[in-house]
Amino acid sequence: MKDALQSELSVAVRAVREASRLCREVQRKLAEAVLEKNDKSPVTVADFGSQALICRALQAAFPDDPVIGEEDSKALRQPAQDALRAQVVERVRAQVPSAGEADVCGWIDRGGASAYSPRFWTLDPIDGTKGFLRGGQYAVALALVVGGQVAVAALGCPNLPPEPGPESGAGVIFWAVRGGGAFAEPLDGPGAPIPLQAKAAVEPAQAVYCESVESRHSSQGGAAEIAKGLGITRPPRRLDSMAKYALVARGECELYIRLPTGAAYTEKIWDHAAGALVATEGGATVTDIEGKPLDFTLGRELSKNRGVLVTSGGIHARVVAAARGVAGG
Ligand code: AMP
Ligand code: MG
Repeated sequence: MKDALQSELSVAVRAVREASRLCREVQRKLAEAVLEKNDKSPVTVADFGSQALICRALQAAFPDDPVIGEEDSKALRQPAQDALRAQVVERVRAQVPSAGEADVCGWIDRGGASAYSPRFWTLDPIDGTKGFLRGGQYAVALALVVGGQVAVAALGCPNLPPEPGPESGAGVIFWAVRGGGAFAEPLDGPGAPIPLQAKAAVEPAQAVYCESVESRHSSQGGAAEIAKGLGITRPPRRLDSMAKYALVARGECELYIRLPTGAAYTEKIWDHAAGALVATEGGATVTDIEGKPLDFTLGRELSKNRGVLVTSGGIHARVVAAARGVAGG
């Protein structure tokens, strides 16, 4: 499959780079602005702008492919949103000078598919909006699903460095094709692709797990119990977005725990597809907390899965066993 998907990969990587540039510019302005508390409009502008750019690229290259994206333009088209819509268009025009309002709304709605089909894309234009607003980690995530399996992934992380190290504004894009390995490149290029390699052996006493910053997205208390059961003694690394999958894929963390909180919530496919392929192609193992593979054949939601466990070093069965019986697990 990998040779057959090179044009999908190159379109996806290029589109995610463009969208990441838009998000980065909005986040940079955000740092300068004095915002009203709870003003979420910057992330909304970047969210819509990112989806517009990526769906435009997919439309041009693969006009028959459905896209299951997180956003649609219904709210944006309301008269009350004139100002917001104008900002989105202005951001998109920085990269596509001819873009008008109707184009931008139309591109966004190209991401409005919801049903499973034998070949479709899934898009999270900004994953980790809370991180984006805090000036922290977020990701632009695009994946192609063929026959229910994630086949191509492009994951832009504008605030994560190309190689393991302190979080910074250098930016990296991870990409993978099923069966072809996973790689990292500087987000702004150029640079030789760096193959990702998850840890081959894991010693729990030395291991670091990662998890969400948001305790409402993943039970941190439950993860601490799992970690204790495994003999992990080091504190978790907390960061927003699908970047967590990539940290395991490049051996920077040994595992990623995402444990349901008890609230009624079903994980969305766009929050996992790209990250899951980057992780597995880097040599990590990805399942839900019961050890079941993530099922991307059910439309917008992972309705047959609960939580996510990503591990390296051959410890997956032990982690699944440790998760059993833990609250939320
Ligand atoms: P993270 O950055 O790991 O905290 O994950 C961000 C994603 O969590 C967002 O894209 C949301 O779609 C998703 N999310 C929202 N509510 C929940 C929830 N209750 N449980 C798990 N994930 C959630
Ligand atoms: Mg998301």
